[in-house]
Amino acid sequence: MDNLHHIVVVGGGAGGLELVTSLGNKLGKKRKARITLVDAGLTHVWKPLLHEVASGSLDASANEINYRAHARKHHYEFQLGRMSGLDRQNKHVVIAPFHDVDGTEVVPERHIPYDTLVIAVGSTANDFGTPGAQDNCLFLDSLDQARRFHNLMLNAFLRKNHEAFQGAEHTLNISIIGAGATGVELAAELRLASRELPVYGMNHLQPSDVSITVIEAADRILPALPGRLSAAATKELEHQRVKVLTGQPVNEVRPNSVVMKDGTELPSEMTIWAAGIKAPAFLAELEGLEVNRGNQLVVEQTLQTTQDADIFAFGDCAACPQPDSDRPVPPRAQAAHQQADTLFKTLCNRLDNGEAVPFVYNDHGSLINFSRYTTVGNLMGNLSGRSMYIEGKVARMFYLSLYRMHQVALHGMFRTGIIWLMDRISRAMHPRLKLH
Ligand SMILES: Cc1cc2nc3c(=O)[nH]c(=O)nc-3n(C[C@H](O)[C@H](O)[C@H](O)COP(=O)(O)OP(=O)(O)OC[C@H]3O[C@@H](n4cnc5c(N)ncnc54)[C@H](O)[C@@H]3O)c2cc1C
Repeated sequence: MDNLHHIVVVGGGAGGLELVTSLGNKLGKKRKARITLVDAGLTHVWKPLLHEVASGSLDASANEINYRAHARKHHYEFQLGRMSGLDRQNKHVVIAPFHDVDGTEVVPERHIPYDTLVIAVGSTANDFGTPGAQDNCLFLDSLDQARRFHNLMLNAFLRKNHEAFQGAEHTLNISIIGAGATGVELAAELRLASRELPVYGMNHLQPSDVSITVIEAADRILPALPGRLSAAATKELEHQRVKVLTGQPVNEVRPNSVVMKDGTELPSEMTIWAAGIKAPAFLAELEGLEVNRGNQLVVEQTLQTTQDADIFAFGDCAACPQPDSDRPVPPRAQAAHQQADTLFKTLCNRLDNGEAVPFVYNDHGSLINFSRYTTVGNLMGNLSGRSMYIEGKVARMFYLSLYRMHQVALHGMFRTGIIWLMDRISRAMHPRLKLH
C-alpha cells in the first residue's frame, strides 16, 4: 500500500466528493493508487440546497452524506481536518489541530504526504469589507450557517406572531443583499415560509406581515445572466410580493437596518449577505502558488496550478481560463461537476505517465427556482450555441436534474432511484416545512 501513488483531495464538496468517488471506484478498489479525502466537516450536503435548508423547505439530515461511510463503500480514505498550509518541498499537506466543541485539542497538527494534490475547498460569500456586514449579516456558506438561519427565522416568526397577538406593530423586515441566483431563490423560499408557517399554528401572522427585500448594486437582478431571464425573475419576485431594489450599493449594515450609498436606511431585522464570492484566505499564503484578488488559485486549462504541476485546483476555489473568453470558468456546481469528470481522466492518465486533459466548460444554461411556485431559465443548444428560454414544470425538471446528476455521481443510478423514491414518501408523510 505504501508504494502506491497517493492522491490527496482537499474538500469534499460539489466537485471534490464526485472526484474521490470515481477515483476510489476505479483506482482505489483495484489498489492502483491510494486516494485520501480531507474535509473540515464530517458530512456533505450539496451546497445549492443550503437556501432550502435555511428556509426549512428541505430537511438537511435526509440529504446528508457521512464521509466515513461513503469512503468505506467507495474505496478511498477519509481524514477529518482543516487544511491550513502546504510544505511543497516535502510534498506534505498541513492540517490544523482539531479541537473539540469545548476547545480541547483532539488531534494535533498533522502532515499528510501526497504525490498528487487536488485542492477543492470552495468559496464563501464576499462582503467586500462592507462595515457591519460580518457582525450583522447571516451567511449561507455552510450547513451550520443554514441551520442557524433556520432557527433564527423560526424564532423571528414566533416573536412577530406573539406581537401580532398582543396587537403591537409586528412587521418582520428581511433584507437579502445580492440578487444573484442564491439571493433570488432564497427570497422565494422565504416567501413560501411566510405562507406556510401561519398554517402550522402561527396564525396571528399574515404573509404580508413579512416584508422581504432583495437589494442589488447592479442595475438589474441576476446581472450575470441574460436580460430576459432577469426580467422574468423580477416579474416573478414582484408577483410573490418581494421588493426588488436595483442600482443600490450597500454602504453599511447595522444591527436592525441596512444603509444604502445614497444614505437611505432600510429597516431590517434579518439581513442575509448573498453577494459575491471569495476563496478561503489561507490559499493566498500557500508557498509560492499564484492566486488572484479573490484568493482563487490560478490554474492552467489542465487545472494544474501555474507554479506546480503536481498540484491541481478546481471548483469555486480555482480561477480556470476559458478559451475565447477573458472571464474564468464561473463558480457554479455545474462547472465543478464537469471539472471533476475532466480531472478524473487526467489523474487516471497520470498513473501511466499520460497527458493532462484540458478542461473546456460547457455551459448548459441557468435555471432559477422560485421554491414551489415556478422555475425560469435558459438552456443552451449544444450545436447552435443559442439559448432557449424555458419556464414552469419543464424548467423545474431540468433544475432538479442537476442535483440528481450529483447523486448519480456519488451513489450510482440504482441507489439514486431509491433515494428519489424515499424523498417522495418522506414528502408525503412530513409537513411541507421543517418546523424545528
Ligand atoms: C445557497 C447557494 C445556492 C447555490 N445554487 C446553485 C445553483 O443552483 N446552481 C449552481 O450551479 N451553483 C449554485 N451554487 C454554487 C455552488 O454551490 C458552488 O459553485 C459549488 O458548490 C462549488 O463546488 P466546490 O466543490 O468548488 O465547493 P463546495 O461545494 O463549496 O465544497 C467545498 C468543500 O471544502 C471543504 N473545505 C473548505 N475549506 C477547507 C479546508 N481548509 N480544509 C478542508 N476542507 C475544507 C468544505 O467543508 C466543503 O465540503 C449555490 C451556492 C449557494 C451558497
